[in-house]
Amino acid sequence: MWKRFRLEIEMSCIFCKIAAGEIPSATVYEDETFRVILDLNPASEGHALILPKSHAADVTELNEEIAAKVLPLATRVGQSMKANLGCAGFNLVQNNGEAAGQTVRHFHMHVIPRYEGGPVIAAWEPGTSTPEGLAETAAKIQAGL
Ligand code: AMP
Ligand code: ZN
Repeated sequence: MWKRFRLEIEMSCIFCKIAAGEIPSATVYEDETFRVILDLNPASEGHALILPKSHAADVTELNEEIAAKVLPLATRVGQSMKANLGCAGFNLVQNNGEAAGQTVRHFHMHVIPRYEGGPVIAAWEPGTSTPEGLAETAAKIQAGL
């Protein structure tokens, strides 16, 4: 039952289809594990998405072997952007869950070039904290690790 449900998700997943080459994309890199494509609605010129070829809804479902390859690949893509697009830096952004802004439920890592003179994009508004509040929150997270 679960396996059938899983297959249905994968068959209807647009990033599975793009990663498999069933839907055309502006591909910048491909190997047996990943396809790297350009985002259709780029935050800046060269905005790329790293897509694993096997389906995982988000990082919590990603197999550890694949997860370990994501950061080295993102680094290579970012370095190529700096060398060949002339960006001054890049953001790695990875959303997990609707509340975190994830709109496509197939794990992907954004690699977003940032150009000199462009806006510096902050991902959050800095808040405030107290030592007691931080200690209490840290203890809660620590309990699950
Ligand atoms: P997220 O909000 O992290 O789930 O990011 C999803 C990203 O996928 C967005 O930046 C979209 O612009 C991009 N996107 C959605 N559909 C496609 C597609 N068919 N080809 C390329 N990028 C896409
Ligand atoms: Zn998928």
